[in-house]
Amino acid sequence: MLELQGIPVSPGVAIASALVLDPDGYRIPRCIVPASDVEGEFARLQDAVDEVAQKLEQSRLETTATAGSKTGDIFAAQLQMLHDPRLHSELQKRIREDHQSAAFAVSSVLHNYATALQRLENPFLADRAQDVLDIERQLLMQLGAVTRQPLMELNESVIVLSRMLTPTETAGLNREFVKGFCTEVGGPGGHTAIVAKGLEIPAVVGIGEFLPVIAGADCVIVDGDRGRLIIDPTDEVLDSYRQRAEYRRTLALRLAEQSQLPAETTDNVRISLNANIEFPHETGSCLQRGADGIGLYRTEFLYLSSEEEPTEEDHYEAYAEVISQMGGRPVVIRTLDLGADKMGHGKRAQAENNPFLGLRSIRLSLRNLDLFRPQLRAVLRAAALGDVRVMFPLVTTIGELRQARMLLNVVAEDLKESGVPYRSDLPVGMMVEVPAAVITLERFAAEVDFFSIGTNDLAQYTLAVDRSNESVADLYQSSDPAVLRLIQASIDVAELTQTPLSVCGEMSSNPARALLLLGMGVRNLSVPPSALPRVKKAIRSVSIKQCEEIAERICKLESARDVDLYLMDRLADLAPELVMQ
Ligand code: PEP
Ligand code: MG
Repeated sequence: MLELQGIPVSPGVAIASALVLDPDGYRIPRCIVPASDVEGEFARLQDAVDEVAQKLEQSRLETTATAGSKTGDIFAAQLQMLHDPRLHSELQKRIREDHQSAAFAVSSVLHNYATALQRLENPFLADRAQDVLDIERQLLMQLGAVTRQPLMELNESVIVLSRMLTPTETAGLNREFVKGFCTEVGGPGGHTAIVAKGLEIPAVVGIGEFLPVIAGADCVIVDGDRGRLIIDPTDEVLDSYRQRAEYRRTLALRLAEQSQLPAETTDNVRISLNANIEFPHETGSCLQRGADGIGLYRTEFLYLSSEEEPTEEDHYEAYAEVISQMGGRPVVIRTLDLGADKMGHGKRAQAENNPFLGLRSIRLSLRNLDLFRPQLRAVLRAAALGDVRVMFPLVTTIGELRQARMLLNVVAEDLKESGVPYRSDLPVGMMVEVPAAVITLERFAAEVDFFSIGTNDLAQYTLAVDRSNESVADLYQSSDPAVLRLIQASIDVAELTQTPLSVCGEMSSNPARALLLLGMGVRNLSVPPSALPRVKKAIRSVSIKQCEEIAERICKLESARDVDLYLMDRLADLAPELVMQ
């Protein structure tokens, strides 16, 4: 038995035989084509670029749907690289002027790019180098210069062991047979890691060189919880991992049995447990997992998943589908939260030095009324079909809220005049995700019907930590005492002004943190569909009094680490099933 330690990037345990990918990868021989073939060679390259662009777009759509936007954006970034004009002119020069074959030109130019990035010894840029190599491999496959990976032809369960896996390879893993993977290189913030997590494939990266010692391993274990790769385990170790894997499987089944029970504490306090969605088709898994409604519908994905800007009808159809699928349950539609890390490649994309502090979200909508109006018209019309509420993101000043509400009224007047059916008393809420809004929240209370705390952005703006920058990922903690104080202040204002409040940031999808939120006074949570079973189980395992005791104790703690350690301890007492053995 050999046990190797790496970086855990995607939780879970997998046991299967090893599939070792060729560590040498591929090499394209230098090839010069006759002058008469140069134009044909260039046309082949252009066809390959078009094909790869289509595949990347497809991967982006599929990955966004299955693993969320952040993961899907990886492919948007690769698309951007693929269309880089400097890359194109370099390839054109090599083929047209130097008469290199398309495959050789692609291989050498992209390899040079990747090597230059790796030499900078910056972990972030090293991850981007993997994206460049990913594009290279895809172009070469398209040009017929390298054959497909054996990964495509699987017919038994395997654990993939490789020097590295690109994000595209990871997204394309056949999930029926690939049970986990381990790589020699890679870091926790790499896109490969993000894709693995999104797809829920146990994975460990950054193990260091191990492929030479692995040949012929019949059985390997990936422990994605602790970052271990175990080769040829002893019977004892194998047994204990089999038990853990079985435990996880039965837990998921047990939780599924409870999916239609109410999210109610042991002292009979009913919590509204809703789901966050990005696409209408997700309503199926929300209902299957017993969501009370949709607490956050991130409508900007309508833009991000299409090359064309959606029309009012596109908006309306998407909303109508969600509302009808949810069968009378509440649906909170959030207006466009475009900008920062959620910017498509359309005409509105604009480079900014500090995009998270720039023209994003409600600011962008208010400056682009041709973008905002069709959405508001569609929301008002769709609201006539069910229990719909609208919510504005990133509201920072009362002026923004008033402007947005005024526009909503103007749009409603237009609909009225043209005799189009719409809902005139549509409830209007705002997201609380900027400290400025928290500090002045009682002013907003008089002008909205509900609040929803976005802990993802609230943590980012409170702690001055870019939420998408892996170099400062350790500082990005929604359980930081400063963030908790702002959450508590918001809850207090909501109670005082009797304004309904929910929490829809990722914080509420962590069962232990969800209990803390209940103790702080929250009675409405919205979480990603995959988190519904575990959060419901946590809610059904505790009394409000127990949660209040947790919140009281947490007030005295000084760091996010202390808060999380204490919360894990309490969860282990109150809902031991949810804490992995
Ligand atoms: C948040 O900021 O917590 C939130 C829910 O919005 P998003 O993650 O879409 O910015
Ligand atoms: Mg937000």
